[in-house]
Amino acid sequence: GVDLMLQRVAVVGAGAAGLCAARHILSRSGRFAPPVVFELSENVGGTWCYDERVGKLDNGLPVHSSMYRDLRTNLPKEVMMFPDFPFEPQLSSFLPHQEVQRYLERYCQSHSIRPHIRFNTVVESVKPVNVTTEGEVEERTAWEVTSSDSSGHQKTEMFDSVFVCSGHYSDPHIPLIPGIENFKGKVLHSHSYRFAEPFAGQSVVVLGAKASGLDISLELANVGAQVTLSHRRPRITFPLPDGIQQSSSVEAVEDDGRIRFQDGSVTEADVLMFCTGYNFRFPFLDAAQLGVDIQDQMMSPLYRFLVPPAFPSLFFIGICKIICPFPNFNCQVQFALAVLEGSVTLPSRVQMEDEVRRELQEKLERGVQHRHLLILDQDQWEYCNTLARTAGFPLLPMVIRSLYEEVWRQRQIHPKNYRKLNYRLISDLEWELIN
Ligand code: FAD
Repeated sequence: GVDLMLQRVAVVGAGAAGLCAARHILSRSGRFAPPVVFELSENVGGTWCYDERVGKLDNGLPVHSSMYRDLRTNLPKEVMMFPDFPFEPQLSSFLPHQEVQRYLERYCQSHSIRPHIRFNTVVESVKPVNVTTEGEVEERTAWEVTSSDSSGHQKTEMFDSVFVCSGHYSDPHIPLIPGIENFKGKVLHSHSYRFAEPFAGQSVVVLGAKASGLDISLELANVGAQVTLSHRRPRITFPLPDGIQQSSSVEAVEDDGRIRFQDGSVTEADVLMFCTGYNFRFPFLDAAQLGVDIQDQMMSPLYRFLVPPAFPSLFFIGICKIICPFPNFNCQVQFALAVLEGSVTLPSRVQMEDEVRRELQEKLERGVQHRHLLILDQDQWEYCNTLARTAGFPLLPMVIRSLYEEVWRQRQIHPKNYRKLNYRLISDLEWELIN
């Protein structure tokens, strides 16, 4: 029979974050029932499960993954890995996406997660409800999760807690560009970019020079496209291939269909490619009811970027940006489980709200733009280690940070070739000895 004392956790999504949540829940079988992992596709891996299709699928759902055919990781496997689950030693540091997918399948296999995943099952709503259990006096929040399987059968179940692991690189963010309807060429977002060949010989304006914008520009230049890399960042100073020229950001499309940039210059183009990031989208949640404000690329308040102060049994895993994703998920999941187990006590709702407000205010005062408030970057180490210290699990090895920073430097100097380097992890102790 079901042990009523065991907490029941629903996990939305079987990408890296959902698998990580399931793995840690399963390892705490004294406190938690096996998780129920809902996955709308028929595979684990999420983003890493390459899908050549674009647009809407037969079941009416949009394609989830934004992976492109020739993507190689931009982090070496040594810092990408879950700290307790290395990639295979014979693999090089920077991997084609297929290897990451294989790694996640291996992770799933070796932690026996698969039996707990309901594939082809979409979570349609997650709602907080007040319940009182027999023998308890106080009301507490439980979660009503409604899902529907591939034959359309709906089911509503109750859980003590929900981990939202549905990813945030699926819903294209497209900035408003006055006159865009006049553009005569093809418009697409990197979400629907798969490979470069169709763009051979074409002139392409790529908007945005973050990881995808830069990477895709290099792929396009490689097949002989003429790329204008348009962005509002400081001018890129490292050498770019001949096929790529930089320009200021796109301001508008003129009546005749030419693209006008901020500096006043204009150009004709065959393709306008948005590499402008993604929106948060949780169609199964009522954000207002949860007291969380979700706008395009920002959501708040979330205490420790993880939990809505008003509902401390709902956890969003992996919403921060510019991080080492898998190590970050691993910390967040362990912290969240410590909260559920009661070994970490969260501050009161008001205190959590105050702290979030204070933190965001400090960042805004430092000049961080609103849409960048979830970028951790240099703050990620302190963030992860604070979670680890509070919940009493191992800190991230310092050598991960050193390697991450080294790779970041190499990427600035050799954007085309940094992935040819191979690294070997050494212990923190060795690192201290040689420095
Ligand atoms: P996802 O992988 O998106 O998984 C979410 C899962 O939830 C999916 O399987 C989806 O089907 C499911 N789901 C969504 N909604 C529902 C629902 N309503 N019901 C049921 N299931 C649902 N990270 C790195 O570490 N290194 C890299 O080199 C790197 N490169 C990247 C390149 C690209 C192009 C992109 C887009 C991302 C890259 N990342 C990289 C970041 C990457 O997103 C993370 O590594 C990680 O895969 C995110 O995992 P996730 O579980 O949060 O989300």
